[in-house]
Amino acid sequence: MSSVVRIERVFKEYRLGEQTVRALNDITLAIEPGVFLAISGPSGSGKTTLLNLIGCIDRPSSGDIYINEQNVSHKSANELADLRARSIGFIFQTFNLLPVLSAAENIEYPLLRRKDLSAADRKQRVDYFLEIVGLGKYANNRPNQLSGGQRQRVAIARALAVKPAIVLADEPTANLDKATGIEILKLMKKINEHLGTTFIFSTHDHKVIDHANRLVKVEDGSIKAFGIRNAKSNWQIARAAPRAPSALRKNLQ
Ligand code: ADP
Ligand code: MG
Repeated sequence: MSSVVRIERVFKEYRLGEQTVRALNDITLAIEPGVFLAISGPSGSGKTTLLNLIGCIDRPSSGDIYINEQNVSHKSANELADLRARSIGFIFQTFNLLPVLSAAENIEYPLLRRKDLSAADRKQRVDYFLEIVGLGKYANNRPNQLSGGQRQRVAIARALAVKPAIVLADEPTANLDKATGIEILKLMKKINEHLGTTFIFSTHDHKVIDHANRLVKVEDGSIKAFGIRNAKSNWQIARAAPRAPSALRKNLQ
């Protein structure tokens, strides 16, 4: 099966004044379509950096990233923006809704870049995804008239409205209370199962990892382990050996 995301020997370094910070250190990873994948690791381990590279928000210092088998590492900023508008939905820890826009307008916003969609097409999508996330009655509410959980639902609908191949979610439950966080996760899982959308989310919460069916553990910018849920729903974890990982990794695909 071809991968929806393939990462080959990726390094990412940030310059901070005189210093260089290595945020990702030789990452190789293939992600199959339709998975519900958790990237887990402590704060500062490189989760956000990895999601930003997959989401074409940022570029690797070296190595290659393929989205649907298209190498995106050397594309221009404009080409990447187009790719994002068609293939990738984002959900952020702090929701990142535009405060002056209503729920419906927030969901419509990324669609405005899509010249192939008419105003009627956009409205139809907005209404459809508002219903999917259970906010049909809140279309005209602004973010400050919504609870945290409802705001994250708007963000999920906004991510889905582009009908992306991949939804990336950076600690999507971190700013929600436990019960609301689990509710949001279950909603994401339902969408994953019903629409087949690939979800890749970062977290350091074990409760969140419990809902995943694939796991990538990162530490200090490196992958430490891969996990896959077997038929009995138990985790099968393989440690990533630094030098001979490819056979193991292939086993997990
Ligand atoms: P996580 O999301 O797991 O907390 P990050 O990907 O945000 O980790 O960060 C990984 C490392 O890269 C950390 O050491 C962090 O300080 C550093 N880092 C992240 N973004 C930048 C940046 N824009 N400039 C400099 N260093 C950064
Ligand atoms: Mg982070």
